[in-house]
Amino acid sequence: MLKSLPEYEVLAEKAHGHLCAGQILGLRMALYGVHLLGLEDPAGADRKRLVTFVEIDRCATDAIPIVTGCRLGKRALKFRDFGKVAATFCDLRDQRAVRLVAREASKQRAREMYPEIASKNQQQMRAYRELSDGDLFDVQWVRVAIGPQDLPGYKAPRVICAQCGEGINFKREVMRDGRPLCRACAGERYYEPL
Ligand SMILES: [Zn+2]
Ligand SMILES: [Zn+2]
Repeated sequence: MLKSLPEYEVLAEKAHGHLCAGQILGLRMALYGVHLLGLEDPAGADRKRLVTFVEIDRCATDAIPIVTGCRLGKRALKFRDFGKVAATFCDLRDQRAVRLVAREASKQRAREMYPEIASKNQQQMRAYRELSDGDLFDVQWVRVAIGPQDLPGYKAPRVICAQCGEGINFKREVMRDGRPLCRACAGERYYEPL
């Protein structure tokens, strides 16, 4: 079952190493997302229904799995590096998805609410606990096409890259002239062998 924001804050602080405005924002975002989808127990009874896309690798992102239970290692958390404090919550059962974006105005709102608090982080933490969902986030209902190979639980035979010999799981190979290549050998390598 869903917990209260203070209870999630304790868990988020433990997981993230500190409590910060980004964590509060991430928790609020996830709580609002699952609420809009009508999921009452995202990390428990409803855990197989939810996949979350996150669009930034910052504090807020760490807080989202605390509420949703969606983790990278369960293929239920997807990272798209768009540099936005935004996330899309997808209900696989009802085929619905909602994308939430943190509103640009919320920092200004925090300044206006608590001008007497000098620390920006403290100011925002306080305001992000209190502002309404509508003040914090813009909501967009969207359609997300998630292929079977991207769903939790997908299985496929393991393939060996014809060039480097490393094993490739879950159909991530690329066919070139009839040979299976890993994505690195196919040209997407992000590292340079020394
Ligand atoms: Zn942080
Ligand atoms: Zn390879």
